[in-house]
Amino acid sequence: MNDFRIEHQYLELPAAFYSRVPPTPLKNPRLVCFNSALARDMGFHTDNPEEWAAIGAGQTLLEGMDPVAMKYTGHQFGMYNPDLGDGRGLLLWETIGPDQRRWDWHLKGSGQTPYSRFGDGKAVLRSTIREYLCSEAMHHLGIPTTRALFMVSAQDPVRRESIESAATLMRVAQCHIRFGHFEFASHHEGKEALKTLTDHTIKLYFPHLTELPDDERYTRWLTEVVERTARMIAKWQGVGFCHGVMNSDNMSIIGDTFDYGPYAFLDDFDAGYICNHTDQGGRYAYNRQPEIGFINCQYLARALAPLMPEDNILRALRQYEKAYNDTFLSTMCSKLGFAEPLDKDINLIMDLFSMLHEHHVDYTLFFRGLSTLPSKGEAPVRDLFVDRSVADDWLKRYGERLEKETRPDAEREAAMCAANPKYILRNYLAQEVIQDAQTGEYDSLHRLLKVLEKPFDEQPENEDYARLPPDWGKHLSISCSS
Ligand code: AMP
Ligand code: MG
Repeated sequence: MNDFRIEHQYLELPAAFYSRVPPTPLKNPRLVCFNSALARDMGFHTDNPEEWAAIGAGQTLLEGMDPVAMKYTGHQFGMYNPDLGDGRGLLLWETIGPDQRRWDWHLKGSGQTPYSRFGDGKAVLRSTIREYLCSEAMHHLGIPTTRALFMVSAQDPVRRESIESAATLMRVAQCHIRFGHFEFASHHEGKEALKTLTDHTIKLYFPHLTELPDDERYTRWLTEVVERTARMIAKWQGVGFCHGVMNSDNMSIIGDTFDYGPYAFLDDFDAGYICNHTDQGGRYAYNRQPEIGFINCQYLARALAPLMPEDNILRALRQYEKAYNDTFLSTMCSKLGFAEPLDKDINLIMDLFSMLHEHHVDYTLFFRGLSTLPSKGEAPVRDLFVDRSVADDWLKRYGERLEKETRPDAEREAAMCAANPKYILRNYLAQEVIQDAQTGEYDSLHRLLKVLEKPFDEQPENEDYARLPPDWGKHLSISCSS
C-alpha cells in the first residue's frame, strides 16, 4: 500500500521562479537501478519497479505530476551568470512520506527547458551512474546529500566528446532550492519576491523559526544556513571528498551535498588535489573547499541584504568559521579515537596532514589502519609509507597522546571503525562499473552499490574494494561534460 501525500508547494511561488515544461521522451528505456529501501521510506511500495522505467524516460507521468524547470542564477567559478536554471532537469512533484518527510522529485536528463542555453537537456549514462553511486555513498557515510531513487538508461545517442548514450536519474531530496535561487530573486525580481522565497524556505525547511519576528527570523535562518554549509564541508574534508564544482547554483539551501559532477574521493592524500579537469586554476581544489563554502555564503548573504540589517548579516557570516572549525575538530578527534579534543591536538592533526601530503599516503587506508592498531598492529599503517621511520615518528607521538585516553582499546577501535570508512567510492571503482554498464552489464554496479551501503563494516568477501587503487586508477581526471 502506498502511503504518501502529493504537494506542489514550489508552484505557490511567483511564476518567475519556474517554467512548466513536459519531459522529452527517451527511447527504449531500461530501469537499471531502483532504490527499494528509499522508495519504501518515502511511502512507495512497488512489486514491479519496471513500471518506473517509462516515467524515468519521460514517456509517462504519474497522476498529479506537474513538471517544472526551476529558475535560478548563480556564481560559476566566481563569475555571475544570470542565465541559469534547470537546463536538463525537472521538478515533477513533491511527496510527503509516512514519517512526514518531504521529498522533491527531480528528473535529471529529461530534455531541454527555457534555461538550457546551448545544452541538449540530456545526461549521459556515465555521469548518471556517477551521481547515483556518489549520492548513495555519501548518504551511507552519514554526510547530508541528495539521494538517488532510480535510474534509467536509454538508446538515444548524446553528443559529448564522443557519442554516448542517454540516461536519467530520479534525484530526490528534501529540497531543491539552491543559493542561486536567492541570487535570482534578489538581483532580478526584487525585494517582495525575495521575501516570498525566503518565507517559503523557512516555512517548509526551517519550521522551528517561523514564529520569530521578521528581523530575528531572517538572521537566525541565515545563521543556520551558514552553519549547515560549514558543517557539511567539514565532513567532506574529513572523509576526503572533493566536490569539484562548488558554484553557488550547486549549493543547497538546506546544506545537502548537491550536484555530483567531476567529484573525487582522495586516494593518496594531496592537499591541493583538483578533481575537475576544467578547473585549471584549482579554484575548487580539496584544500580550498572550506574557503569557497564561505565565499558562497557571502554571495547568498549579499542577495539577502534587502531583508535584514548589515550587522546581522555579518554576525551570521561570522558563524561560518566557528561551525567549520568545531565540526572539523570533532570529526578529526573521532577519526583519531580521542574522546575529547585536548589543547595540542590540533598540532598533531596538522602534522599528520603534512605527513600524509608529503609522503603521498592513501588517506582512507591510513585512518582505517590507525583504527585497527589494537587488533592488527602497526603494519597496515607503516606499510603505506616508503620510509617507515616517518610513520614511526608520528605513531610514537600518537601513542603518547592515546595514553591520555581512558576508553578500553577495543571500545576505541570500534568507535574509530565507525568513524573511518573502509570502503569509499574511489574513482577507479566508478570507472570500472561504468565500463561494464556501457556494454549493457550492470551486475558490477549493483555489487558496488551494495558494498557502499556499509562503508564502515568489515566485509571479508569484499576486500578487493578496499585495496589501494591500481596505477591507472589514480588521479583520473574527470571533465564537466556530462
Ligand atoms: P552543472 O555544471 O551540472 O551544475 O550545470 C550548470 C548549468 O548548466 C545548470 O543550469 C544546468 O541545468 C545546465 N546544464 C548542464 N548540462 C546541460 C545540458 N546538457 N543541457 C542543458 N543544460 C545543461
Ligand atoms: Mg548544477
